[in-house]
Amino acid sequence: MSEKTSQLHEAQAIMSEIYERLNVSEDIRSRLHQPRRIHQAGLPVRMDNGSLKVFPAWRVQYDDTRGPAKGGIRFHPDVCEDEVATLSFWMTLKCAVVDLPFGGAKGGVQVDPKTLSRLELERLSRSYIRAFYDVIGPDRDIPAPDVNTNEKVMGWMADEYAEIARRQLPAIITGKPLGMGGSAGRIAATGRGALNVLDAWVERKDKKPEELTVAVQGFGNAGYNFARLAKEAGYKIVAISDSQGGIYLKEGLEPMPIWEHKNETRKLSGMVYCDDTVCNVDSVETISTDDLLGLEVDVLVLAALENAITDKNAKKVKAKIILEIANGPVTPAADALLQERGIVVIPDVLANAGGVIVSYLEWVQNRTGDYLSEEVINERLAARIENAAKNCFQCAHREDVSLRVSAYMQGMERLAKAMESRGTQHYFEGDVLT
Ligand code: GLU
Repeated sequence: MSEKTSQLHEAQAIMSEIYERLNVSEDIRSRLHQPRRIHQAGLPVRMDNGSLKVFPAWRVQYDDTRGPAKGGIRFHPDVCEDEVATLSFWMTLKCAVVDLPFGGAKGGVQVDPKTLSRLELERLSRSYIRAFYDVIGPDRDIPAPDVNTNEKVMGWMADEYAEIARRQLPAIITGKPLGMGGSAGRIAATGRGALNVLDAWVERKDKKPEELTVAVQGFGNAGYNFARLAKEAGYKIVAISDSQGGIYLKEGLEPMPIWEHKNETRKLSGMVYCDDTVCNVDSVETISTDDLLGLEVDVLVLAALENAITDKNAKKVKAKIILEIANGPVTPAADALLQERGIVVIPDVLANAGGVIVSYLEWVQNRTGDYLSEEVINERLAARIENAAKNCFQCAHREDVSLRVSAYMQGMERLAKAMESRGTQHYFEGDVLT
């Protein structure tokens, strides 16, 4: 990872301000400067046509001071070591921001999963576990879904782990299918948690969901579930886009049929935007993702990938609030430009923490054998994420800092405490047991 081009070092730039504000010791700064462990493997997969392909794969455990490392596995052609390390750094902070007893990790495979058959995908998923079996575990490092991986993939992975271990250890991985010890509410958790956070902000500003228009960039699991629940809560979803393009309707779109249509055809279509009995096919406009980012809306939701808003397109943004459901969708340079213009960014480490919160509840259920209803899960998710959101908003107000700096301060404070408990230079310079 060269210092010059590294996404990780770019993502860490914010830390000097956080360290200064919290007066964090040199020991801790050095520990958090790089990942604890980077594991790399080539995953051999027999393809349906008989050929063998080897896919580069990583598992990065950034830090495990606060508990076993935790984080998803993504399948994407752009995955590289630097990206996985950056995502594992964000997971470390995210788990601390919402006070889960976990450290941070991430995994990835450099592959375009859309080019694989289902059987090839299963072999690849199982191969990942065979490669990293020795370094993961319910008390060590617990993977989960991320971009282009889902409950089916987690199911294959949990099964492969159990085959090798010769016993059932469901707490090895979260985001599993319900029948294998998955948790009620896990699939919608990231979108639901993001809505809990947005609601808390809207309430603080004495606004009502009905007064706000929303554009959603990214229509995968998290973007869809957010849009569906936000629509139910009264927000008006005027635009949705995915990697192919977008649709816009001033009167408001209906996310659920759009999702169903997309899953059948792999296309977004406005033909199914109908709200109750009112259908007006002609007025749905097809727009590009770029157009969507520049729409005059109250809330712009970024639920696709990193670097959606950069210093090149930040000036185009007209929304008042940005909600980061993806990890790292706003670059640090763009963040500064948005802040100058008074655009509020609700940061990823808070806004998308719903997924890992319900992952934590899944892990607890797997270890106790006591399974909870969806209602209880949703209540616990809301309580935890709303509490973190309120603390974040209050601290930002008190310290006169951005919500991102405020969230990082909350997470860093917990991380620093855990690290200090294990001893720092300051401690070893003092008298014994005083
Ligand atoms: N991949 C998700 C994230 O970025 C979930 C991680 C997890 O559940 O461990 O937060």
